Amino acid sequence: MKAIQIKQPGGPEAMELVDLPVPEPKANEAVVTLAASGVNFIDVYQREGRYKVPLPFVLGQEGAGTVTAVGGHVKSVKVGDRVAWTGVLGAYAEYAAVPEDRLVPIAAGVTDQQAAAALLQGMTAHYLSHSTYPLKRGETALVHAAAGGVGLLLVQMAHAIGARVIATVSTEEKAKLAREAGADDVILYTQADFEAETKRLTGGKGVDVVYDSVGKTTFEKGLNILRPRGMMALYGGSSGAVPPFDLIVLSQKGSLFVTRPTLGHYTLTRDELMARAGAVFGMMAAGKLKLRIEHKYSLAEAQRAHRDLEGRKTTGKLLLIP
Ligand code: NDP
Repeated sequence: MKAIQIKQPGGPEAMELVDLPVPEPKANEAVVTLAASGVNFIDVYQREGRYKVPLPFVLGQEGAGTVTAVGGHVKSVKVGDRVAWTGVLGAYAEYAAVPEDRLVPIAAGVTDQQAAAALLQGMTAHYLSHSTYPLKRGETALVHAAAGGVGLLLVQMAHAIGARVIATVSTEEKAKLAREAGADDVILYTQADFEAETKRLTGGKGVDVVYDSVGKTTFEKGLNILRPRGMMALYGGSSGAVPPFDLIVLSQKGSLFVTRPTLGHYTLTRDELMARAGAVFGMMAAGKLKLRIEHKYSLAEAQRAHRDLEGRKTTGKLLLIP
């Protein structure tokens, strides 16, 4: 089978298209033929070596497709079932072996491509807005990179809750998408100072929560626009890692909360995974969550997909179609 393998961490050129044997399922695994693999920023961190993975490895944390073989202990899925998963390496490939307890059945009315596009980023948007800082009607959230994969879904969920959403994006085209997703105000943070703009938009009060996936270039200013006892949910570092900082700053800026959440800890048990995936698929099936799948690439084009994602050229979701 064709797969994208990393032998040494590096730039996009570190991704090699290779031929590997189709995996055999272990006792607790199912083998899935992939209809689509999700491209996510974590793939960039793992490719670069910012997140360490034993070498060599097949990249990719998210996929959807049809079960072709099951191990001897597998009970909940059978050959022919449509399934999706996230949090298991090896999805940039034609086949993947996935532990049974990470597989989520794809709901009727949701296509394989939609499932691969929604699971990781949809559940991330869901845990951020419903669990990390459970937004309430009338509260105000600042969402950075609001036209990105997670961003567009997070804006829709926050808007559906009834929160006011202030969004940041880098271009007018992205601003339009953020507004369509439900953002009340959009700041072009590459042109305007988002700290000053957010203070102006909130009459100096600040926001209840900042959902920050950009990190290095936004974190510090984000602390300055929180209301007293507000929360900074730093969930990524697309611009680079946030440098270490002194905790006393949190006291000085208003007894703030900072958390650095990760999806794995918000899908800890089988029940939590199924509930969150079910909530996301449910919103999609009800037409309450719209996916933007603008960018599709073949496995052989994986390098280009990463260049586009890192180059801030994309909006919404990127998929590899094996
Ligand atoms: P996005 O589609 O959001 O792409 C990243 C976006 O970040 C860009 O489009 C760009 O938007 C913005 N950005 C700002 N500065 C930079 C920069 N210097 N270089 C590149 N991009 C920049 O990606 P994803 O939706 O896949 O992921 C978003 C973030 O969420 C990532 O940091 C990822 O690691 C994180 N994440 C975290 C999870 C968790 O559980 N903790 C789970 C899923 C994702 P613009 O042009 O508008 O500035």
